[in-house]
Amino acid sequence: MIPVNEAINIVLQHSPKLEVESVALGDALGRVLAEDIVADSDLPPFDRAQMDGYAVRAADVANAPARLRIIGESAAGAGWHQEMKAGETVRIMTGAPVPAGADAVQQVELTREIDGGSQVEILEPVEAGRSIVRRAAEIKAGETVLRASEDINAAMIATPASFGYAQVRVGRRPRVAVMATGSELVNVDKKPGADQIRDSNNYTIAAYASLAGAIVERWPLAGDDTEELKKQIKQAAETSDVLITSGGVSMGVYDFMKTALKELGAEIFFERVALRPGKPTVFARLGNTLVFGLPGNPVSVAVTFNLFARTALRAMQGAKVPGLIEETAVLARAVKGSVDRESYLPAILRTDEKGTLLAEPLKWGGSSDFVAFARATALVNVPAGVGFLEADSIVKIVRMPNCH
Ligand code: AMP
Ligand code: MG
Repeated sequence: MIPVNEAINIVLQHSPKLEVESVALGDALGRVLAEDIVADSDLPPFDRAQMDGYAVRAADVANAPARLRIIGESAAGAGWHQEMKAGETVRIMTGAPVPAGADAVQQVELTREIDGGSQVEILEPVEAGRSIVRRAAEIKAGETVLRASEDINAAMIATPASFGYAQVRVGRRPRVAVMATGSELVNVDKKPGADQIRDSNNYTIAAYASLAGAIVERWPLAGDDTEELKKQIKQAAETSDVLITSGGVSMGVYDFMKTALKELGAEIFFERVALRPGKPTVFARLGNTLVFGLPGNPVSVAVTFNLFARTALRAMQGAKVPGLIEETAVLARAVKGSVDRESYLPAILRTDEKGTLLAEPLKWGGSSDFVAFARATALVNVPAGVGFLEADSIVKIVRMPNCH
């Protein structure tokens, strides 16, 4: 048995970065940047009005109310490009360039047009600089604004868009083969017979793998038979970067996954992790394909996928932070740990009225209880050797990826 962090390090050591590809910016959400994004222009590219109103010389309106002659109009996309002189003003819209000679914008609410629109009365003074964003005040041309290895999220998509990146370089999406094993399994559209259950792990793994950026291919359910497993593992490995199986890795008489991998000549990097749930997790390589043999229990699948397989998938795409991010929270009720294993217990996160982040471990029936797990938004970490954690203890948590 190896500790969780050691297992994660082994996963990282064996997760090669995939090639880089170009995608249209509109398809880049959720991908990992493989190039720095550099500003190709100043931002704003010109002195920009921040308000609808009148471009003025602050000195002209120091003793407001003051009358100014309207000599033009500067709209977004159609500026007024002459020199504005003393006593003059230009009607200006938000986003429009501020004319040379003006040093402030007075907002329209503090003005009144007179003489049929040929003059305006500025009702209050305005200090120089007001409601103008100076050219390059935000970004200077040539500045690096996003770095390779960052995750492209919705908040950052405006940045490459504004600097002309119609295409962006990103890490290739890993191809993941998903394969549930177990002679008791039937597909979701079948009524389970005596002694059978429906497969859910393929759906869980496919869901989390696609959240991690992978392209998922689902393989037929495999029975507990070494030859059948070997055949299907071999085929799946030939067309995937990562094969993720579930079931068949514990100590039962019919747990043939490790035997199948070994007989195929796979290199096994670890096969038991000091983790609860998820002890019998296997990590191996067959040819160039990484293999994660996850346990069969549905909650163990969710936990081990996100600790290990997700980390590999994101590292392969070049992510700077491939693993789940650790945070701290206050435990909402007491939980039991384990003497020899680190626990990652499903929990719900919420905040109390003081703003404290609380982690409430689910009341669950163990690692097979996928119905309780459906509410989980995080995992609470209990270090190995800590038998019991009282309510109000400060704990380490990781959030579970849940939605695009
Ligand atoms: P195993 O590790 O193969 O012994 O499986 C452990 C438990 O998980 C057993 O109760 C299995 O029936 C259950 N299980 C295994 N595979 C799946 C699956 N694909 N979907 C739902 N439950 C499963
Ligand atoms: Mg099984």
